[in-house]
Amino acid sequence: MLTLSAIMAVVVSVTVPAAAHMEPSSRDLPSTASAASASDVLQQASAVSSTQASAALPLQTFASSADAEISPAARDAIKVKKLVVEPPPTPVYAGPSGSFAGTYAGEFAGFLAVWPANAPVNDGFGYRGSEFHGGIDIMTGSGMTIVSASPGVVTQVTYGGGWGQYIKIDHGSGVSTLYSHMIQGSQMVSPGQTVAAGTPIGLSGSTGYVTVAHLHFETYVNGTRVDPMGLLP
Ligand SMILES: [Zn+2]
Repeated sequence: MLTLSAIMAVVVSVTVPAAAHMEPSSRDLPSTASAASASDVLQQASAVSSTQASAALPLQTFASSADAEISPAARDAIKVKKLVVEPPPTPVYAGPSGSFAGTYAGEFAGFLAVWPANAPVNDGFGYRGSEFHGGIDIMTGSGMTIVSASPGVVTQVTYGGGWGQYIKIDHGSGVSTLYSHMIQGSQMVSPGQTVAAGTPIGLSGSTGYVTVAHLHFETYVNGTRVDPMGLLP
């Protein structure tokens, strides 16, 4: 249902400016519409938008896919959802597109060299009801040394807000990591500093919006939060 809703949202979003061209049948899809009919909707959306959509939009990949298999169409539909249907960003945990973790985790599986802390994971990535958890919670307790998960360059060392004391590291290839809730002032690195995999960067703590000391660890691919479990070794 979520996928169909997203597809319908895409159709509405794309066709509103060109409502005069919209075919009535596309509004009458039953709620149990199959993936094939969903594909048809997207093809209609693509056709309608062809005069105004730029070449950069992935929607155009549907233009010649009338006889294509269903599975590639479903995959592309998810990418379209990413571009169009986003919950409004909020300062801390509401990630823009948590449902794309699978896509990126596949491409970057095992990208990171080491775990940022040696402790069990308590809470995973994704939606908890309507709330989105943008990373994983590693139950370090207070005072455990946090290390860079891969070679990179420190881009941010900040204190404040829901993340408390946090550090962000750019690892190249569009991948970056974030380490939050550290003890205030415990950072061992500075912005611009090059780090190796395993370089100590700070101490776990409970700064920011937390109830117990832990490391909230996030991974980003091209600016989108993805499931760290897919990138960790
Ligand atoms: Zn967390």
